[in-house]
Amino acid sequence: MILTTDYHTHTVYSHGKGKIIDNALAAKEAGVKTICITDHGFSHPAYGMRRRKLDKMRNECNLAKQETGVNVLLGIESNLLGVSGKTDVKISDYDKLDVFLAGIHRFILYDTLGEWFTLLGANFLTRLFKKEPSKELIKRTTKVYINAIKNNPIDILTHPGYLVFADAEEVAKCCRDYGTLFEINSRKSHLSDDDWVKVINTGVDFVVNSDAHAPKNIGQIDYAKSLIERLEIPLDRIKNINGKTPEKLRFAEFKKGF
Ligand SMILES: [Zn+2]
Ligand SMILES: [Zn+2]
Repeated sequence: MILTTDYHTHTVYSHGKGKIIDNALAAKEAGVKTICITDHGFSHPAYGMRRRKLDKMRNECNLAKQETGVNVLLGIESNLLGVSGKTDVKISDYDKLDVFLAGIHRFILYDTLGEWFTLLGANFLTRLFKKEPSKELIKRTTKVYINAIKNNPIDILTHPGYLVFADAEEVAKCCRDYGTLFEINSRKSHLSDDDWVKVINTGVDFVVNSDAHAPKNIGQIDYAKSLIERLEIPLDRIKNINGKTPEKLRFAEFKKGF
């Protein structure tokens, strides 16, 4: 199993270790034909991408492509900002980006304390005290994902379940209905095997990504591979492996009609 495209890689523009060119060289070495630079979204005060750097990043992507022959796309791993379904990508950012990833992360600047508590605070406390999540909490967190998927042309939902308690099956159904790809992240799984089985049974499509934070990890999917084998995830449902590319990507489709 080899990645056609590694859609999820980080660089020094957020908290990755390599430059864009380093990621491209590593991709070439690993035999990955296309990579996407998806640094963390703008609302992270310490290591989020900066809008003013987007043109510079684009330029570096083009130069890296020229130098290595690897197709280097520019994307973002944006942050979900609450039950409203908001992310930290604005419509005015769309023409500067090729790919739109989104996920839940910590240490983000939320619009209000209420949004922070609703999304992360309550989940954090539940984890801290090792309590069973309440139905209410799961419902609310599921809504964060669902409203984000409904309200934004998100290509890939990254590491679903990271930091939070959500109904993975409902989230996957929403991804399936709106054409958002469900990520199998190669750093870690945040879902139980039972949840994965429910997710697989929804018929949602997947992508596998390295989520590399260092060039040496570009295209490295050993962890995801063992998960895929153990859970027998049908390979035809994984859209970015062995020469395949997704039939369409939601963000690019959306921009065509823009
Ligand atoms: Zn992430
Ligand atoms: Zn990431």
